[in-house]
Amino acid sequence: GIYVADPKRYERMQYARSGDSGLQLPRISLGLWHNFGDLNTYDSMKATVTCAFDHGITQFDLANNYGPKAGSAERNFGRMMREFLTPYRDEIIVTTKAGYDMWPGPYGIGGSRKYLLASLDQSLERMGLEYVDIFYHHCMDPNTPLEESMGALEQAVRSGRALYAGLSNYDGPTLERATAILDELHVPFIINQNCYNIFDRTVERNGLKDMAKKLGKGLITFSPLAQGLLTNRYLNGVPADSRIAHDNRFLNENALTEDRLQQIRDLNDLAQQRGQTLAEMSLAWLLHDDAVTSVLVGASRPQQILDDIAAMENTGFSAEELARIDEIALR
Ligand code: NDP
Repeated sequence: GIYVADPKRYERMQYARSGDSGLQLPRISLGLWHNFGDLNTYDSMKATVTCAFDHGITQFDLANNYGPKAGSAERNFGRMMREFLTPYRDEIIVTTKAGYDMWPGPYGIGGSRKYLLASLDQSLERMGLEYVDIFYHHCMDPNTPLEESMGALEQAVRSGRALYAGLSNYDGPTLERATAILDELHVPFIINQNCYNIFDRTVERNGLKDMAKKLGKGLITFSPLAQGLLTNRYLNGVPADSRIAHDNRFLNENALTEDRLQQIRDLNDLAQQRGQTLAEMSLAWLLHDDAVTSVLVGASRPQQILDDIAAMENTGFSAEELARIDEIALR
């Protein structure tokens, strides 16, 4: 039958404004980088997306190259929009990005005005949308003047193809320079998207986290579960239905060193002492940080969404617990 969203969905989620902006985002957002391309069935994608939306996850994160093959996640999401999400368009934040390699030749990668605007048009076409809510430059491009890339974001917004602009994988100093340009152009730039989790502390070291907070910009953290390492997934080997076993383009068995597995076991023990799963504790650790607007999870099935959302039930940490997490993760 026709999908009808759960009327209780907004009671199950907390929302936070993205930095100083007026846009509230769910504290848990769903990304479609994995599990939404040609390797998965449409029914499984639909089950995960409807479970997410029924629990108040209003933000769905895409990029031009999500698949495999590149573009297929946007196409599959577009099919869901068309088949059952159109009535909810104004309740949903759809994001996409351009920056990484998408099509052959010099105009299918980087930060040029030519690439960013052509790619956004292609994304809108694949998703069957008139606009996205947030359009991101996906990664820094040192070979393109920042003014040009930011000018393309301005054009995306000015032309109505995007409501807000975002930056992904920038560092603190580049974020500061980009913000000055975007301010001058009066672009509604509201969010940074960066990798951040218990194991990956890059944003603490490259100035991004502190600068985002200082500038009043939001931060949505991708791979908050380190692609599944910070869960119970790999505690007892590699399950056949896991990312490492079935789609190891970006995470493979080499990640499972004995040291890493011991860290995962020790963190899992701490999570159990807190009455949480490791996934819940790992997300709570990020949600506890007031620089973090939303955690951007991936999920291969609805049950993971339910577990991930339960993280909001306890985001408090004692100083001892925080120190113990650092002691395990940074050793
Ligand atoms: P996560 O770190 O959340 O990893 C998701 C994986 O963890 C799932 O596919 C699943 O693995 C496992 N998992 C999730 N919840 C649970 C649970 N409760 N219990 C056990 N296992 C669980 O995030 P991703 O690496 O998938 O990245 C999330 C999103 O971030 C992407 O979809 C994308 O939107 C964005 N992103 C952005 C990037 C950028 O450059 N801007 C780069 C990378 C990601 P399994 O499949 O094995 O079941």
